[in-house]
Amino acid sequence: MLGALPLSARPGGRRLSRSPITRGRRVEMGVCEVCGNDYWLSFEVRTVGGQSHVFDSFECAAHRLAPVCEHCQCRVLGHGVEVEGRIFCCTHCARSSGVPSGAEIRDTVGAHPA
Ligand SMILES: [Zn+2]
Ligand SMILES: [Zn+2]
Repeated sequence: MLGALPLSARPGGRRLSRSPITRGRRVEMGVCEVCGNDYWLSFEVRTVGGQSHVFDSFECAAHRLAPVCEHCQCRVLGHGVEVEGRIFCCTHCARSSGVPSGAEIRDTVGAHPA
């Protein structure tokens, strides 16, 4: 029953419009700095260095902000591994990189179960 749905879930509801109004004033839409999509659910990411970024999706945020593994060139979306200031997606890539101390990197998990 439509009347039971919250306003934001109603097709054509005011909160689904492209220019939402909050407390009587028009709200700036968030334009994604990667793809240019102007989306009302866009979000802002602030880095420790003080930079501010606006994205419409985590995919676009990762495209712009996630580091790239030096060995396999994938985006590092998890914790990753940093060796001598160089970033890798996993310990395998760190060991395969040729960075001297990278050869010593091991996962912090326990022994493989027998
Ligand atoms: Zn985007
Ligand atoms: Zn890698």
